[in-house]
Amino acid sequence: MRCAIIGKPLAHSVSPAFQTAAFRAAGVDATYERWETEPDRLAGAIAALRAPDFLGANVTVPYKERVAPFLDDLRDEASALNAVNTIVNDRGRLVGHNTDVSGFLRALDTVLHDEPVGHAVVLGAGGAARAAVLALGRRGAIEVAVLNRTERRAIDLCADLAEAVASPLMPLGLDAARRALRDANVVVNATSVGMAHGPDADSIPLPPDALHEGLVVVDLVANPLETPLLRAAAAAGARTLGGLTMLVEQGAAAFELWTGLRAPREIMFEAALSATAGAR
Ligand code: NAP
Repeated sequence: MRCAIIGKPLAHSVSPAFQTAAFRAAGVDATYERWETEPDRLAGAIAALRAPDFLGANVTVPYKERVAPFLDDLRDEASALNAVNTIVNDRGRLVGHNTDVSGFLRALDTVLHDEPVGHAVVLGAGGAARAAVLALGRRGAIEVAVLNRTERRAIDLCADLAEAVASPLMPLGLDAARRALRDANVVVNATSVGMAHGPDADSIPLPPDALHEGLVVVDLVANPLETPLLRAAAAAGARTLGGLTMLVEQGAAAFELWTGLRAPREIMFEAALSATAGAR
């Protein structure tokens, strides 16, 4: 059987490493292929997934919002977010899922356990921020403040998700971070600030002195494992969670949808860890 990841660029993706490890560990005879796809080839790539030897695919940047029209059905979170990160081939019918939401929640639970989310702050207004806001709403946040450099995008995000999320959503500019963090319990970096090889690899998306020990600080950036934000958060006494756990959890949920088997999470995490170290 076959699976693929569809996106561009894909050179730094660690999904092939941990999904291949998962198939091997679970005794599933399947390959996981890297399909770096040009926009004008997207429809053809999706159509190819209908063949009987395909379990499905992952979809990543920049196509998560663009694949919906090529699919037959959208499930739960994929429909609320209008973004798909996992496609399942159900005997020729293509069904779109979004496992970023459940992946984020499972990752968050490794730090929060049974604690409530309380007041949450999400930095960013792209696809990752949307998934985090929906997830925090589902986890019963008292309120989610959405802070973005371009405030207009935060306003649009809150308007788009207002119906799907029961918690009040508050759009703000990034300059409101100090005020928003004062009473917050959970803060999520869903910007690309801190990403290895990016333009802001050494930066932190908020004033470091706004961090405090009452916070759980989640950085969705998965490479490096310890971002400048996580270092500053640990120094302030906050609890921290890096992006690799969510990356593996969203992949584990995809694996379970494709195979119907329980994902070998520890093996996937180890494979992701060594692939991330190798990609540095
Ligand atoms: P995206 O749609 O491109 O959004 C990028 C966000 O970062 C925007 O809100 C943008 O603000 C903000 N930003 C970029 N440079 C900035 C700067 N210098 N200062 C302040 N804000 C800045 O990206 P995405 O797909 O949502 O991904 C965001 C991050 O999450 C990436 O690092 C990605 O790798 C990570 N991610 C992780 C997982 C995981 O499983 N761990 C899953 C998905 C994504 P503007 O709107 O003002 O441009």
